[in-house]
Amino acid sequence: MLFNFKVAVFDLDFTLWNCQELYEQTQSILANLSSKGIRLYVASFHLDAERQCESLGINKYFSSILYGRDVPKSQMIRRVMDDAKVSPSDVVFFDDSFDNVLEVQSKHQIRAIQVDRTNGITWIDILRSNRPISTQPGQKKLFHFMY
Ligand SMILES: [Mg+2]
Repeated sequence: MLFNFKVAVFDLDFTLWNCQELYEQTQSILANLSSKGIRLYVASFHLDAERQCESLGINKYFSSILYGRDVPKSQMIRRVMDDAKVSPSDVVFFDDSFDNVLEVQSKHQIRAIQVDRTNGITWIDILRSNRPISTQPGQKKLFHFMY
């Protein structure tokens, strides 16, 4: 599969794991994306995120794990974009919280996808995120009609 993003940012709780174990497709998604050279990040409000990723055995996939209780996700993603030196159109973001998805989408023109916390992250979410964003400036086509 070809991916049209360079960076993927994941919420941790109820996106990658259900607070007991990893979701069914988490491991294969992280392994596959990182093997394609896509840079992966965690952006979490969970202050124990780093230790948690380590005990789940997934910290090896991430370029960085960002966390902070009072830090908006959009601010974490700003830091990710600076770190990875990419533009917003290169980034996708996944979170089970609609508020976070909305907050990020309102600050950055990136693809932000809400994950269903029953199944966590799935390949369907990855496919949905792989569509180009429709609101890129300068991409609008002008149609001329002559009657
Ligand atoms: Mg969450």
